[in-house]
Amino acid sequence: MFKKILVANRGEIALRIQRACSELGIKAVMVYSEADRDAKYIKLAEEAVCIGPAPSALSYLNMPAIISAAEVTDAEAIHPGYGFLSENANFAERVEQSGFQFIGPTSDSIRIMGDKVSAKQAMIKAGVPCVPGSEGELSDDAAINKRIARAIGYPVIIKAAGGGGGRGMRVVHTEAALVNAIQMTKAEAAAAFNNPAVYMEKFLQNPRHIEIQILADKHRNAVYLGERDCSMQRRHQKVIEESPAPGIPRKLIEKIGERCTAACRKIGYRSAGTFEFLYEDGEFYFIEMNTRVQVEHPVTEFVTGIDIVKTQILVAAGERLPFTQRQVQLRGHSIECRINAEDPFKFTPSPGRITAWHAPGGPGVRVDSHIYTNYFVPPNYDSMIGKLIVHGDTREQALARMRTALNETVIEGISSNIALHRELMADANFVQGGTNIHYLEEWLAAHKR
Ligand code: ADP
Repeated sequence: MFKKILVANRGEIALRIQRACSELGIKAVMVYSEADRDAKYIKLAEEAVCIGPAPSALSYLNMPAIISAAEVTDAEAIHPGYGFLSENANFAERVEQSGFQFIGPTSDSIRIMGDKVSAKQAMIKAGVPCVPGSEGELSDDAAINKRIARAIGYPVIIKAAGGGGGRGMRVVHTEAALVNAIQMTKAEAAAAFNNPAVYMEKFLQNPRHIEIQILADKHRNAVYLGERDCSMQRRHQKVIEESPAPGIPRKLIEKIGERCTAACRKIGYRSAGTFEFLYEDGEFYFIEMNTRVQVEHPVTEFVTGIDIVKTQILVAAGERLPFTQRQVQLRGHSIECRINAEDPFKFTPSPGRITAWHAPGGPGVRVDSHIYTNYFVPPNYDSMIGKLIVHGDTREQALARMRTALNETVIEGISSNIALHRELMADANFVQGGTNIHYLEEWLAAHKR
């Protein structure tokens, strides 16, 4: 087992990985930008290295600074968390070439899955159902593209092969708009992702976003840890996640879960990963794979009792998965609310000094956050400042616990989206369960203030 791991991230996930290391008796080296000097996990750290000034490009995305921090502290492995360099195949390669273990899949796996066109092709080959669409990248031939769209049926969606974070997508409803939409998406993709390749998919009208968590080791063992429903999204960004997904027959989940683990074995995937699907009319359609730990991993940890971050570390060190598929049992129901420093209804970011923070507690309540009273939320990064996760024997109990926990939570000095979550937990349709990916946007439009 590793003696020392460098945590190449910030915020709540840096603290989460630090906690996992501590439980495993592994020393965690933390890194920080000048803006994160006062973070809780830096105060808790035995060792911490400043890797640059506040802008991410100069710190958390600065590969040489991170690798030299691992060198000077004698770390053996690097955990990338999520975001930043976590899905950067070149980073994974450089980490390994510098003699460190990258806590994640091989750089080849990251590269294949990082390009949505090659990811889809790999999945079709591995027998995972995909959204009907173009066979690969679209050419500049208008006639061919029109033929592809007609065969798929309108509306279609043009997506950037290198897209991420909900960007680089355009829905097309009519043939008249197709050629222009392809050109615009290409131009945007070239500017934003340095890759002009785009592809076409059927635009599903009312799907839910359902994803399968998998864990795999270096010995071709792979298991799936049930599913998460992440349909509550704003601008393609998840706001609330839960497990299990309300109303989906277990038989269907088992079938798609087995397809995912078979695909992992086929492509030699290792570490944690998530297969993201759209689910409509009883069918799953693969959209992409995330080759890292996800923000919403705690809901799966709650229902399975499996520590995903610790398992990631164990399998990176070459150990076998310590459980079989049969030993993975889902119990009860878990819900996560992402807590953001932003106006709850206008969504303008609200960085600044937190003058009071009181975290909720009680049975089945988990708070993953690095904030504290008098902590300054820097303006330089993502607005998520923590996650509130609850577990109950039933979905009703989980909802009741989430309402209680949200009522107990106090954040003063900055705005947070707690007020939005309170309203959503009382919304009749959300309470009923099974809302689709457009529901939250529609709800926000109807509750404008
Ligand atoms: P990203 O990598 O940017 O997150 P994804 O491919 O995962 O992009 O898609 C993000 C979201 O966009 C999905 O959760 C869904 O809401 C929407 N979306 C993507 N593809 C389709 C599609 N074919 N039909 C309908 N909605 C889609």
